[in-house]
Amino acid sequence: MRFEVTILGCGSAVPTLHRSASAQYINVLERHLLIDCAEGTQIQLRKYKAKFQKIDHIFISHLHGDHFLGLVGLLSTFHLLGRTRPIHIYGPEKLKDIINLTLHGFHNNLNFTWNLHRLNFSKKELIFEDNLVEVHSFPLKHRIDCCGFIIQEKERERNIRKEKIEEYDLTLADIPKIKKGGDHITTSGEVISNSELTDDPLPPRSYAYCSDTMYSESTIDAVEGVNVLYHEATFTSELAARAKKTYHSTATQAAEVAAKAKVGKLVVGHFSARYKQLTKFDEEIKPVFPDYVLAEDGLKLIV
Ligand SMILES: [Zn+2]
Ligand SMILES: [Zn+2]
Repeated sequence: MRFEVTILGCGSAVPTLHRSASAQYINVLERHLLIDCAEGTQIQLRKYKAKFQKIDHIFISHLHGDHFLGLVGLLSTFHLLGRTRPIHIYGPEKLKDIINLTLHGFHNNLNFTWNLHRLNFSKKELIFEDNLVEVHSFPLKHRIDCCGFIIQEKERERNIRKEKIEEYDLTLADIPKIKKGGDHITTSGEVISNSELTDDPLPPRSYAYCSDTMYSESTIDAVEGVNVLYHEATFTSELAARAKKTYHSTATQAAEVAAKAKVGKLVVGHFSARYKQLTKFDEEIKPVFPDYVLAEDGLKLIV
């Protein structure tokens, strides 16, 4: 059951030859999602072989150019490729005007409809769900309104022990009920408890995206216990004052959030273009939260 994140861009405001600006492609149980869509994201999607025509949901964290300037280009390409399936965009309300105004300049109509679902910047909210997956947004602490996102599987069904199917002659009609936790009643009226028939399912997996944000205790609450946390670290601690002033985080702060939230693994990105080498990020993060990886364009993470 695939739950994979591809980092399409891990640079901050200014893209460089080695780091594009923010975008991530997520395949969670064959739902294809895009988080943020910096300029050039459609090229990155192709470069890293994402199934980008399958993307039905796009989440835009905030309206700084390095997080959304590729969106209209991507929509335009969907149109040119003959897309007819609707697309859902989750972002700040102003994004609707930006898209409309830009599209108005060169397309009369797209072949497909798009809906803008307005994010709530004051509290955590469920913004998407289907039978297997849900996505929450939660407020981050940035210069302008900004949301993080948590993508998680729903609780899985219980696993039936194979030998019990034979032992109790379980039918196709019995199995769905047992998977949902029900007991089984045999033809002679004997009740077989669910615990005898099944094993616990694997715990649901979760991924959190936090960019852009300064260090915040509320982020720690929001992402507590996720399997994988992506947290921005635009600067190292030498530039802590600048991080604070621009509402960004340092590498140490990203590691502190991961440690306090007891996440499984930390991925750090949104590096300032001033850092050619990232050795100092390693030096800061490792002592605070050893289970981490520095993002790079094209990196694939298994959640
Ligand atoms: Zn940014
Ligand atoms: Zn920003």
